[in-house]
Amino acid sequence: MSHLIVTLPGDGIGPEIIEPTLELLEAVGDFEFQEHLFGGASIDAHGTALTDEVLNACKRADAVLLAAVGGPKWDTTDPSEPRPEQGLLGLRKGLGLYANLRPVKPLPALYEASPLRRERIEGTDLLVVRELTGGIYFGEKTRTEDFASDVCGYSREEIERIARTAFGAAERRSSGGSRKPKVSSVDKANVLETSRLWRQVVSELHAREFPQIELEHVLVDNAAMQLVSAPRDFDVILSDEAAMLTGSIGMLPSASLGGDTRSPDGSPGTGGPGLFEPVHGSAPDIAGTGAANPLAMFLSAAMMLHHGLGLESEAAAVESAVEGALQAGLRTADLGGSAGTKQATEAVLANI
Ligand code: NAD
Ligand code: MN
Repeated sequence: MSHLIVTLPGDGIGPEIIEPTLELLEAVGDFEFQEHLFGGASIDAHGTALTDEVLNACKRADAVLLAAVGGPKWDTTDPSEPRPEQGLLGLRKGLGLYANLRPVKPLPALYEASPLRRERIEGTDLLVVRELTGGIYFGEKTRTEDFASDVCGYSREEIERIARTAFGAAERRSSGGSRKPKVSSVDKANVLETSRLWRQVVSELHAREFPQIELEHVLVDNAAMQLVSAPRDFDVILSDEAAMLTGSIGMLPSASLGGDTRSPDGSPGTGGPGLFEPVHGSAPDIAGTGAANPLAMFLSAAMMLHHGLGLESEAAAVESAVEGALQAGLRTADLGGSAGTKQATEAVLANI
């Protein structure tokens, strides 16, 4: 049976990295793709970053594959003008995607391409679990000529469900291996009331449901420092929107999931479709040059196959093809080489 995938190329390098991703997906399975305007491209055509029609199409899909949105053309500080990022927030809210999963596992072939020394990053294998629909992004906003405010609020229920996602992920990551599961909850509890509730609720849930998993609370400032000095000490990092942490940009995929159902591997599944996208943005500085690294987009498609569609062997095929291409020497410009999008695509396809 063919799966229906809505694709949202968005802006900048978006269309350039989506196209080869569809080629790659067609090499591993049978999919039906339905493309829609999103972000700045949708603002140009319809005056809004996400139309009802596109949101409804996403709701009907088995999964949504998104590249990136934004660019100088739509940069504005006027609160009454539409902005591309409103599309992202609208999708998360509209699809109920409260959990964003960002795995960070540098491939041995790329140790030398990292700005961090090899002995620092060797063995790093962590997962950032980030709350997506509560907090400051969705709180009430006010703006006058001389004053602006964004309300940051979290309910116990919002904190509990994302914490459950993090503990569940830590449990699954340790099963069958020698690794001792650990969750590092990142907050700003020395200053923020929301962070103090966050800490309390996470601790209570931990004691009640996940006492076998190690839990530590880390202030975001300290977490940022530890993450570059000893990344391998982390397993699952639980964070809210404002405290997010990321690593090197051209390689990082993400999955956003919601709902209460479970996908085949037991990860938080979605009643409806999940959203799969690279962590990076639309890279307007290199758009149109053919230099974009498509690997984060490819790995996002692999996360879609795994978390969104339950196609385990297809997901593994994509991941190992990316790894194989890198082992064989593939390096795009952001990784210190000279391969463009086209060569990168060919190198990965050759390893399928
Ligand atoms: P960016 O991630 O687009 O780019 C940061 C730097 O990394 C740039 O030098 C870019 O050339 C490089 N880069 C990013 N992805 C790359 C890739 N696949 N291959 C090679 N190089 C890559 O972040 P930015 O410059 O801060 O933002 C640019 C635009 O993207 C802005 O409009 C911003 O709002 C938007 N943005 C969108 C998302 C999203 O769609 N989820 C996320 C972040 C930023
Ligand atoms: Mn993104």
